[in-house]
Amino acid sequence: MSRQYYIAGNWKMHKTKEEAAALAKALVAGLQEGTHKYLVAPSFTLIETVAGVIKGSNIRLGAQNMAPEEQGAHTGEVSVLQLKELGVKTVILGHSERRHNYLENDALINKKVHLALKHGLEVILCVGELLEEREAGQAEKVCEQQVSAGLAGVGAKDLSSVVIAYEPVWAIGTGKTATPEDADAIHASIRGVIGRLYGPQEAAAIIIQYGGSVKPDNVSALMAKENIDGALVGGASLKPESFIPIAKF
Ligand code: PEP
Repeated sequence: MSRQYYIAGNWKMHKTKEEAAALAKALVAGLQEGTHKYLVAPSFTLIETVAGVIKGSNIRLGAQNMAPEEQGAHTGEVSVLQLKELGVKTVILGHSERRHNYLENDALINKKVHLALKHGLEVILCVGELLEEREAGQAEKVCEQQVSAGLAGVGAKDLSSVVIAYEPVWAIGTGKTATPEDADAIHASIRGVIGRLYGPQEAAAIIIQYGGSVKPDNVSALMAKENIDGALVGGASLKPESFIPIAKF
């Protein structure tokens, strides 16, 4: 089964409106002939601005997080309804910064996954082990647990709206990248988990992105691996000079 490469930029808590508009404009121009699937995920306050710039282009609009409830007394949270209203098509859930700095657990992430899918959003579900877990030989087990708990109760029909991003926590923003071989081994094991939970067709179809210090000079080797179907890019997504070559690898 052929899977389309999917390159996503997570802008994290960077950029003002003016800077975001300039970056989005450069990406629209630079990626118009790009053949892969593309996404940018700006901060909530930038979404409307970026939506206006990428409208009609081949770049999807994403958000970096979302509340687990549709609406109500949830100070400081942003609702799926508010995101949809701005044209958001995809939401990143379970990013390691949410898991480890803001203590989001699998149950909360699973609740968000269900809500996003119910509203027709695509979900990028992030999973990945800490350095100590890798050193203890637990990387596969941790990812298996995060995938199965994150997707608990999600039916096969909805799985086509789910992308998994494997992001070893020790590789995010550190300049350390998993070797293509190590990343591919975890991707294969995640694909195996999807196979056991859903079946071989679903396993063959699911897009699994790699994230963790992806740069223009390492993207091709990573993407050449059988089970790596794209990238979730943090730092290098903040500049057209680095994101465009990654996106057009
Ligand atoms: C990320 O935050 O998803 C990420 C992979 O960041 P970086 O590319 O900076 O490591």
